Amino acid sequence: MSNNKNTKLNILMAASECIPFVKTGGLADVVGTLPKELKSIGNDVRIILPKYASIDEKKFPLKDLPYKLRVNVGYETHFFSLKYYITDDGITTYFIENNRYFNRAGIYGDFGIDYPDNRDRYIFFNRAVLESMKALGFRPDIIHCHDWQTALLPAYLKTTHRNDGFYWNTACVYTIHNIAYQGSFGADTVEAAGFARMDFTPEKIEYYGGVNFMKSAITLADRVSTVSPSYALEIKDFNGRGMEWSLTRRGDKIYGILNGIDYNYWNPKTDKNIAANYSIKNMKGKSICKKDLQNLCGFDIDDSVYLFGCVTRLDWQKGVDVIIDAINQLKDESMQFVILGSGDMNIKRDLQNLASKYPKLAAAFFDYNEPLAHKIYAGCDAYMMPSRFEPCGLSQIIALAYGTIPIVNRVGGLSDTIEYYNHNNGQGNGFVFNLTYGENFVETIYKSEKIFKDKKLWGILMQNAFNCNFSWDKSGREYQNMYLDLIGKL
Ligand code: ADP
Repeated sequence: MSNNKNTKLNILMAASECIPFVKTGGLADVVGTLPKELKSIGNDVRIILPKYASIDEKKFPLKDLPYKLRVNVGYETHFFSLKYYITDDGITTYFIENNRYFNRAGIYGDFGIDYPDNRDRYIFFNRAVLESMKALGFRPDIIHCHDWQTALLPAYLKTTHRNDGFYWNTACVYTIHNIAYQGSFGADTVEAAGFARMDFTPEKIEYYGGVNFMKSAITLADRVSTVSPSYALEIKDFNGRGMEWSLTRRGDKIYGILNGIDYNYWNPKTDKNIAANYSIKNMKGKSICKKDLQNLCGFDIDDSVYLFGCVTRLDWQKGVDVIIDAINQLKDESMQFVILGSGDMNIKRDLQNLASKYPKLAAAFFDYNEPLAHKIYAGCDAYMMPSRFEPCGLSQIIALAYGTIPIVNRVGGLSDTIEYYNHNNGQGNGFVFNLTYGENFVETIYKSEKIFKDKKLWGILMQNAFNCNFSWDKSGREYQNMYLDLIGKL
């Protein structure tokens, strides 16, 4: 294959979640959106996912494929079948169906607690992906896998499938969306996953006496990337959760390619989930959305009150405790705070206590609720994101698209996307503080409030937010170049 920019590639995206079928976080947005961009460049891109029980088959009538396939997890043989669905943009998504592993209420767990057999669920899925492509006769030039759940694919291609002619010309790219979730398990994983003892070495799958899915992919994938340039540097240096050495040891570059968002989907002009549509040119609808949200939260309906939002996984990473502390300090101010989140039960309890203590100041919702998320992005004045670390972060980018101003901690992708608003020269799209240097979220909120009260300055800031463009075309090209560079070197 020539290293030509017009080369058409067969690309398989293997992941554990993908919009519009199943989503717990930003991973799903990326896996659902990047393929459209890669397809528009001319590639044949397909996606493969587990067939979770929560996938709405009324909304997405999946079609059956006539295969009965099987793979082993340890000494047990598991049968599976394949389904598929073609979305409006012409992209085929395959679903691996197995009742034992995927026919359950949650994706990774229930009530914020992981399923105890997650290791085996994703060993099964990784092996089933490789079998499925053979059954389908779709021979990928690139398998692009994401996060720990699909991180065994590079290891399989380099070990158990090294002599498998079907995959001789398949290269594997691995993207880290969050280094905090690595899939680290005991040494018995060698047998469970079907590796040979000779592959249980630090150069391959061994990690401190066990098997770490992510480490094996960092070591064995043909290219490794992560989702923002700053995070790519951070995880090599100090924020790699034990992966620093493996990342540095690769010698070649860890690509940092910024995520984008789908501006057709996240569009206040056409969004059907919000009370009124609006745009950079006609902002009337935004105050209707604010009223609607205030009403929904049981707050006083008042346009002059500074309204903050947050839509998040409830996890230490996201700094929801920082938000709770801030709200406790700001309880006498003319401000309102709404948080939508699901996950950790302790964080949920703290938010419940806060909301019942100050019902006019704070509201909290605890399900995974896409329409409400849209209402929050649209109805708020500012968006809070005091994440302790943030690989890329999509929420702050979505907030910008709705003219809602992000207030963020300076880490990872947040520092690549949000620039402090300088009212003297009119530059910038949000407010930034630095938790590590002891900078204070509450102080930053007060600074932003001064601008909020000056309608002219706030207006300029909102325009700057609307004018940001984090669409996928640039990042899609960067992925394409990474694939081509890789294939040129094979
Ligand atoms: P992460 O992937 O770490 O969770 P991101 O900011 O990259 O964080 O992406 C989060 C995505 O998930 C955003 O699209 C956000 O709107 C969405 N999201 C998170 N929690 C919820 C929820 N409870 N309900 C609806 N959407 C949510």
